[in-house]
Amino acid sequence: MISKNNSKEIISRLLQMLDESKCNFWAVEVVKRELLAKGFSELKEADEWKLEPGGCYFVEKNGTAIFALKVGKEDLRSAGARIISAHTDSPCFKLKPNCEIYGDGGVVSLNVEKYGGGIMYTWFDRPLSMAGRVSIANQEDPLHPITVILDFKQPIATIPHLAIHFNRAVNEGNPLSVQKDMKPVVGYFNPEQIEEFKRNGGVIRSKILEHINSGNCHVEDSMGQLISDRKITADDLIDYELSLYPCEPAGLVGLEHEYFQSARIDDLSMAFAGLEAMLDTADSECNSTGILALFDNEETGSATKQGAHSPVLRHILERICAVQNPGDAQAFHRAIAHSFMISADDAHGWHPNYNEKYDPTNHPVLGGGPVVKINANCKYMTDSDGASVFRQLCKKAGVGCQYFVNHADVAGGSTLGNISSVQLDIRGVDVGNAIWAMHSARETAAVSDHIDMVKVLTEFLK
Ligand code: ZN
Repeated sequence: MISKNNSKEIISRLLQMLDESKCNFWAVEVVKRELLAKGFSELKEADEWKLEPGGCYFVEKNGTAIFALKVGKEDLRSAGARIISAHTDSPCFKLKPNCEIYGDGGVVSLNVEKYGGGIMYTWFDRPLSMAGRVSIANQEDPLHPITVILDFKQPIATIPHLAIHFNRAVNEGNPLSVQKDMKPVVGYFNPEQIEEFKRNGGVIRSKILEHINSGNCHVEDSMGQLISDRKITADDLIDYELSLYPCEPAGLVGLEHEYFQSARIDDLSMAFAGLEAMLDTADSECNSTGILALFDNEETGSATKQGAHSPVLRHILERICAVQNPGDAQAFHRAIAHSFMISADDAHGWHPNYNEKYDPTNHPVLGGGPVVKINANCKYMTDSDGASVFRQLCKKAGVGCQYFVNHADVAGGSTLGNISSVQLDIRGVDVGNAIWAMHSARETAAVSDHIDMVKVLTEFLK
C-alpha cells in the first residue's frame, strides 16, 4: 500500500528523475541506475542468457531503449508475461552535423532538425542545454566506437524570439520555420577564437572535447568498460547525436501543489510509474514474468531497431522461452496466449479553455485517475476486453479510472499499443494519465494521478 509519506517520496523521485533524464540516452541511464541499485543484473544481447525463476534482469538496446524482467516462479509458457510499455523519447531539436552557422559580430547559432512533433513556440527564450551520445574512434575495432553519454548541464543556448515590433500580427498566428526561426544561439566569439574552434571541427566539437577531457562524462568502450585516462583529440571525435533540452527544473504548481510541471512528462512519467511498479514487486513472489519495456522513437513512428515497431520485445520473449523450454516450438505461442500488455502513454486532459475540442462525455480530467484510451478505428490497442482488465485492476488498487475518446471530428494520435500489435498478437490496453500541453517544452500533470498509476501498475505486476 502506498502511504502519504511514500507518495511524497514517489513524487520527489519522479521530479528528480525527470530532471536527470535530459534525453532518451539519459532516461535509460537513470532507469539502469535504479534497476542496478535494486539488484537487477544486466544481460547482453550478444551473450548466452541464463535465467533463474524469481531473477531480476535488464537488457539495453542502442542505449535508448531498456527492458527490465522479473522472471516468474512459473515459466513463460504456462504463466505468460505481464508487460508494461512506455517510451523514452520526447519531441526536441537535434543538432545536425556541421551545425555551426557563423553570423555578424561572431554570433554563432546552431543548425538543428526537429525531432517529433513539438509545440515550437514553447521553445523560445528559454535557457537550453544539450545532451546525448558522442562516438569516439576505436582504432582496433572500427565497428565498435567508444561511446560517451554526455550532458552539458549548464544553460549554453537560447532561441531568441523576434521582437513584436517587427511582426505586429505575431499574436494572431505566426507560422514558424524550423530552418529559419528555431536556430539556437550559443554565443559570440572573436575571430581568433573562431579560428581555433574551426581547427577542432567547430564550436560544438570543441566544447564536446573540452567536456570529455575535463572528466565530466560517462565514457564506455563497446564492452561497457569505463575509460577515463585517455585524452580525446579532435581526430578521435567521430560523430554525435545531441539534442537540446530546456534547463528549468521540474516542480510542483497549483494552490495546493496539485500539479507537477516538467519537460518530457510524455512519456517519462509513465516510464517512471512503470519503473516504480517494477521495483516495488521485485522482491515479491510472482507466478508470471513482469516486464517493463521502454522503447525509443515513439514520437517518430517507432520504426527503428529500438522502437515498438521492431521485433526487439518479441525477440526477448522468444529468448526467455528458448532458455526455459529448449526445443519446445510451441512455448512462445503459448506464452503469448497467457500474456497481457499495458501500453502506458500520456493522454490529453480536458482543458478548461477549449471545451469544444473534447468529446462531450469522455474527456479525462487531471486528477481524475488513470485513463483508458479507446478509438473505434483501432489507433489504440484497447478493446472492451483490454479495458475491462484495466478497469478491474484500478478497482482492486482503489483508484479511479477515466476514458479518453477523441471528439468524433478530430483525428487523434496513436501510440505504442497498436504498433506493438504488429509484432505481438497479444491482449492489451492503451492507457495513460491526463496531461495538459502535450508536446510543449513544459507539460503539466496531476500529482494524484501519478500515485494512482503507480498503484495500478503495481497491482498488475504482483
Ligand atoms: Zn507519448
